[in-house]
Amino acid sequence: MKETIEMTLLENPTRRALVIGAHPDDNEVGCGGTTAKLIQAGWDITFLICTNGNKGSNDPKMSSYLLAELREIEQQVAANVLGVQTVVFLRHNDGELAPSPSLRFELALYIRHFKPHAIYTHDPWRIYMMHPDHRAVGFAVIEAIVHARDPLFLPGLGQIGVPAWRPGALYLWWAEHPDHVEDVSSTLAQKVTALRAHASQEIASPGWVERVAQKAVEIGAEKGMVAGEAFKKIPL
Ligand SMILES: [Zn+2]
Repeated sequence: MKETIEMTLLENPTRRALVIGAHPDDNEVGCGGTTAKLIQAGWDITFLICTNGNKGSNDPKMSSYLLAELREIEQQVAANVLGVQTVVFLRHNDGELAPSPSLRFELALYIRHFKPHAIYTHDPWRIYMMHPDHRAVGFAVIEAIVHARDPLFLPGLGQIGVPAWRPGALYLWWAEHPDHVEDVSSTLAQKVTALRAHASQEIASPGWVERVAQKAVEIGAEKGMVAGEAFKKIPL
């Protein structure tokens, strides 16, 4: 089947996606419902988790070491709920990411390795977005796509059998200007269960899961769906 950008996501023959979040829990919030839906349609999904989330607590007795360990376990459980095949933990320190050449190269390597049709990540242009890691990951992913897709970038990788790979589309969640809504009516319950796996975050922010679920219902309602996840879609 010839691949075109007009083709609906579920029809795409590549059937691989990479979901890249700054922290454990971002992928479930941003596109947990879409992830579960694609997996049910036979897609192979990989989660990249850029930081260990070791500052995501307001408990004065919590240590960064314990929190990092806890959040990696929570992330793995959440990914299992959605049916995600592979979770890769990059284990950078929470709050310290920058869209540096090293992060860009690191992400480009994973894009070339996993060869996704679709990539999902943060919208770095969203105004008033406070967390520096969300901006850093969004920019680093966008720059990494350029390094992954053109063979004259990172030429040494081509020489060792990691050739250039051009994804088909980039989807930015929590977008400033969303133009694509994925119907996640059938997988909202799975998204909520996956969010609950991040128990440390529910303790830090009571009502957080309900707020995320309510947002999905509101996004869906505008399109006549039970629930939706909104993205800025950038065809590549
Ligand atoms: Zn985050």
